[in-house]
Amino acid sequence: MALSQSIEDYLKSIYEIESKHENVTTSSLSEKLNVAPASVTSMIKKLSEKKLVTHKKYQGVKLTNSGLKVALEIIRHHRLVELYLKEALGVPWDQVHEEAEKWEHVLSEDLEDRIDEYLGHPTSDPHGSPIPDRNGNMIERDSRNLIEVSPGAKVIIAEVSDHNPELLRYFGKMGLYPETEVKIISIEPFQGPITLVVKGEEYSIGREAAKYISVVEADA
Ligand SMILES: [Zn+2]
Repeated sequence: MALSQSIEDYLKSIYEIESKHENVTTSSLSEKLNVAPASVTSMIKKLSEKKLVTHKKYQGVKLTNSGLKVALEIIRHHRLVELYLKEALGVPWDQVHEEAEKWEHVLSEDLEDRIDEYLGHPTSDPHGSPIPDRNGNMIERDSRNLIEVSPGAKVIIAEVSDHNPELLRYFGKMGLYPETEVKIISIEPFQGPITLVVKGEEYSIGREAAKYISVVEADA
């Protein structure tokens, strides 16, 4: 079934909120998509009629199996395109998201397969987010937020948020890319900064930035 770009964006956002184990509500969607609550309400009705979501009082909005399939397909497009733009065309990692937001809706299945083939069936995008395969399966890693790590620990950056180009440039300047090992030196109390070592260099970053980085344990 051909769906509008707006429907696809809703399904993707619902998936993203669900995957943070948060309740999907009119207000969380309104905030995420930056649209008025009234528009969200009417869209949720439309999505329920198409059996893409269920909406029950107190449980919020949930993707049905067909809604989930669409969301994962769009996410696959988005992440493949991001990686393709970076690897094949050299587009910097802070600029690929914006482009992929448009491409994700228009990519044909044929082009999707070709990009996947060209990139050697990649499993993560330039920001470390997992790329679902054709069947919607992806490698989910047991990650946690950088601000939850104890001082002294060595961790590997798993994923950084792709939404803010300025933040990505800031991370890039310190070499805070996915798959990079970092050692946490200290975390100051009272919302103070986190000091860490990246490739032998020491940096301090604020918690407001650090919360956009998720990490996994470094293999000892
Ligand atoms: Zn992105």
